[in-house]
Amino acid sequence: ENRSLDHLRAPVICVLGHVDTGKTKLLDKLRCTNVQKSEAGGITQQIGATNVPIDVLRELTKIVRPPKGSQPFKIKIPGLLIIDTPGHEHFRLMRSRGSSLCDLAILVVDIMHGVEPQTIESIKLLQDRGTPFIVALNKIDRLFEWQSNPKKDFWDLLKMQKDHTKVEFEHRLSSAKLQLSEQGLNTKMYYEYSDPKEYSWIVPTSAITGDGIANLIATVVKYNQEIQPEKITFSEELEATVLEVKQTIGHGITIDVILKNGSLKIGDTIVLPGSKGRPIVTQIRALLLPKPNRELRIKTEYAEPKNIKGCQGVKIVAKGLKSAIAGSSFLVARCQNEIEILKDLSQEKEILGCIQCEKRGVYVQGSLLGSLEALLELLKQDKIPYSNVRLGNVIKSDVVKASIMLEHDPKFACILALDVEVERDAQEYADAKGVRIFKEDTVYRLFDSFKKHIQNHQK
Ligand code: GDP
Ligand code: MG
Repeated sequence: ENRSLDHLRAPVICVLGHVDTGKTKLLDKLRCTNVQKSEAGGITQQIGATNVPIDVLRELTKIVRPPKGSQPFKIKIPGLLIIDTPGHEHFRLMRSRGSSLCDLAILVVDIMHGVEPQTIESIKLLQDRGTPFIVALNKIDRLFEWQSNPKKDFWDLLKMQKDHTKVEFEHRLSSAKLQLSEQGLNTKMYYEYSDPKEYSWIVPTSAITGDGIANLIATVVKYNQEIQPEKITFSEELEATVLEVKQTIGHGITIDVILKNGSLKIGDTIVLPGSKGRPIVTQIRALLLPKPNRELRIKTEYAEPKNIKGCQGVKIVAKGLKSAIAGSSFLVARCQNEIEILKDLSQEKEILGCIQCEKRGVYVQGSLLGSLEALLELLKQDKIPYSNVRLGNVIKSDVVKASIMLEHDPKFACILALDVEVERDAQEYADAKGVRIFKEDTVYRLFDSFKKHIQNHQK
């Protein structure tokens, strides 16, 4: 391994937390785009990554005041790679070599609500993976008569608040800290400089006004370069994780990948696990990079470099990627002999195994493997069996297969169609036979409407 401490890569950052705490808004504020508005149901459905380069980090954090007597804050990392996680289902899938893909997480907590159910789940997930995290105590602008000024360091900003605002802040902060401690988590404010092995650091923020964002980013940068520089030192050894398998106009089925360590070039033979139990061996035809500080999934012209180096998000164009699996990691065969060995290795590492289908169960279809997996995970948790899983629009032959359940178990004669179209003759056939098609754009809505149906059946 070729590691040296003066070659730090961009750390991979995930954002987790309860729904509506402001995860999307926080990222929006950072990258000044407006992803949230274009999302179906306001829920972050797909996975994208944002490169925040060093220049932007410098600009963002220049108002952060160094503690008395210490040097001004100096950024040593080339940037941050922030993954926009739609929820903890996805985080669960995102691992590389069995550990978390993520170097550091931001756990968003709403200061007005404190700890909520998914806050607890997020903490458990992070602790399971051994992923360190920083708590963003968001929505401070909602404190009574909060005076906003995103150009000020948070400490200075807090000092200039009215007394009753300060009192409310202290009160809500200590109640959040108490609730977190009930989850076995000790926390301290970021400016208390406590031992991060014992305490998680809290940074108050407002994703609406931008207050505290500079301090949050500075804390994220500091944590990485000062507390875990070894972890974010670039290594030549390939470490790459598939985030999403999807159609890209003009390129067929492609994979969105986080290349954490190592490098990739056009013509490389990659070996990755396939959902049908067979590994995929294919050559990289093109590497597509988004423009800096934009998200992978926003339509934009791509840069097409010949080779790239970690850490960054990249879209890979190659043949045969249809059965690639979101969340899996892949390998590069440097010579012909290596392919067979890597094929075995790769398939062993497959996280999902083949998708296990039951004889009796619902028919599941979706546009993306990542979100399909999240849906399957929910079904599994509720012990709802599925008999078929397929990517793509609902066509008549799907309904024909789903209609077999009418004889076995009519409540399962359903198609759960996630973010796909239903062809007209398929719908007509379903109506005629009595096969229900549940069609929604988001995992949660689909799961909810299907659960209502199952509950009605049980009455
Ligand atoms: P997510 O579900 O965690 O991604 O939350 P969103 O980013 O979608 O935000 C949920 C709602 O809270 C939206 O209406 C946001 O405008 C609002 N919101 C997010 N952050 C803040 C904040 O800092 N202050 C206030 N007042 N509202 C916020
Ligand atoms: Mg969101």
